[in-house]
Amino acid sequence: MSQPTGPETHEVLNQAPPLVDYDLFATDRALGEGLERAGAAWARPRAAELGALLGGEPQEWGRLANVYTPVLRTHDRHGHRIDEVEFHPAWHDLMRTSVAHGLHALPWREPRAGAHAARAALFFMMTQVEAGHLCPISMTYSGVPALRAQPDVAAEWEPRLTSTRYDPRLRPAAEKTGALCGMAMTEKQGGSDVRANTTRAVALGTPGPGREYAITGHKWFCSAPMCDVFLVLAHTERGLSCFAMPRWRPDGTRNAFHIQRLKDKLGNRSNASSEVEFRGAWARMVGDEGRGVPTIIEMVNHTRLDCVIGSAAGMRAALAQALHHTRHRSAFGKRLVEHALMQNVLADLCVESEAATVAMMRLAQAYDDDAPAEERAFARLATAVVKYWVCKRQPAAVVESLECLGGNGYVEESGLPRLFRESPLNGIWEGSGNVICLDVLRAIGREPESVDAFFHEVDRGRGRDTRLDRFVDSVRDELTDFGDVEARARRIVERLALALQGSLLVRHGHPAVADAFCATRLAGDHGRAFGTLPRGIDYRTIIERAWPA
Ligand SMILES: Cc1cc2nc3c(=O)[nH]c(=O)nc-3n(C[C@H](O)[C@H](O)[C@H](O)COP(=O)(O)OP(=O)(O)OC[C@H]3O[C@@H](n4cnc5c(N)ncnc54)[C@H](O)[C@@H]3O)c2cc1C
Repeated sequence: MSQPTGPETHEVLNQAPPLVDYDLFATDRALGEGLERAGAAWARPRAAELGALLGGEPQEWGRLANVYTPVLRTHDRHGHRIDEVEFHPAWHDLMRTSVAHGLHALPWREPRAGAHAARAALFFMMTQVEAGHLCPISMTYSGVPALRAQPDVAAEWEPRLTSTRYDPRLRPAAEKTGALCGMAMTEKQGGSDVRANTTRAVALGTPGPGREYAITGHKWFCSAPMCDVFLVLAHTERGLSCFAMPRWRPDGTRNAFHIQRLKDKLGNRSNASSEVEFRGAWARMVGDEGRGVPTIIEMVNHTRLDCVIGSAAGMRAALAQALHHTRHRSAFGKRLVEHALMQNVLADLCVESEAATVAMMRLAQAYDDDAPAEERAFARLATAVVKYWVCKRQPAAVVESLECLGGNGYVEESGLPRLFRESPLNGIWEGSGNVICLDVLRAIGREPESVDAFFHEVDRGRGRDTRLDRFVDSVRDELTDFGDVEARARRIVERLALALQGSLLVRHGHPAVADAFCATRLAGDHGRAFGTLPRGIDYRTIIERAWPA
């Protein structure tokens, strides 16, 4: 076809180059420092290798996997049920890369000090490339500790779930080189309140832990239905119990696990979230009968950690785009990043991002297998506190980052719309905001050792900044008053999170970042939008730290 003739209309000028071929690890000082502090210096070469890789071709995989979304095929051409989900090859490339790097299993394969923090760093970088595929990756990681409640079931599944070979074939797990785990709790009539579940499990012989059951019912959300095994909640006569339900029965026939349809979601579009029905599906009980929630909570806690990592990563990905864009785009005679007001916006976003990163790495460290009891108590409360707060901050931070790109940020090709659509999700699943805050109250009321451990960690920052000390004292005071505590739960949790982030930043953050955090988030010298840091904050240093020139 001939090109249009006539004079050129314009030259393309002043557009930022695409953010490609950059190193996600080398450009992120807060992440590298967090890795060292968490006792995971040994994982530096792996993080460096993945960080360099992810800045290249995987960025395109992330785009493709979200443009060419999964398709459900319920039946074959002859009318037989097949319940298969078809994905674009880019999805499989993402999955293969994450599995090969152990994002689904590193701490179970290598249970050493810092293993969860090492995995957190890898997961954090991968999420910046594509968040949707990390749903099955996260559930596989989280499923292992819950399965361990039933050692014989774990002995069968753990070697498959921790394999670093991605095998997407819909085949009996015993024939595959690796397997993935999903979770199905939520039903139409109740998600947070799983006690409202109506799915029933009937023993096929002797009842009890490890025994075989037939499960009948439905699940309203079952992300990643192409997984090989699912942890499912269902009622027996003795109450809600946990089961491991594979896609295939032991006799080599397909299990009665039927995918009704895929959800048409706001974001997370690469991931095939589904509605499923079980028509007498074969499963084995995991853990004690009637103790399904305490059993599956092991899984939920680890996925909550991943929500923190995922939300910190969503903020970082959007911030990287904003910093890159404003370094290249000029307006009114100078680059955007040189304008004082833009510096305030960017620096404020950098502070939020570093506060999320530092909290995420500290939390992941507390998940180490051999962590002392105090660390476990800290993780109990801190997981809920940090999950609530970092997930809440993500949408606001992503929107502000998007705005830094002006109109380009609103256009799909920039990648920011995908980050925006993804941003509310971590706040919803694995315990929506209110439910998480009520869980914090539960921990405070029933597990006082978790409160002691939490404040022990916070108090490590005492004496370094009077604004932090005053803030922590006021949070402690707030906890002595239990009047109307349920209505005050969000307020309490938010303040607990800020106290922890402040303590971590005054000890480990850059002094300029810690100063800005204490002035604004703790001493209240801040507006209600980003970009309202007070005078005297060292914007340039904060920006340079977050995105080295
Ligand atoms: C993309 C996606 C994928 C998902 N994948 C899975 C999956 O794989 N497996 C699975 O089991 N589930 C999955 N879920 C479901 C998710 O975990 C639930 O949506 C979530 O737990 C909330 O439950 P619900 O939707 O029933 O909302 P509800 O429980 O009805 O809650 C609605 C609102 O009420 C609030 N609320 C609830 N109780 C209280 C209370 N006591 N006091 C004050 N406020 C309250 C909640 O915080 C929330 O804001 C997925 C969800 C999404 C969006």
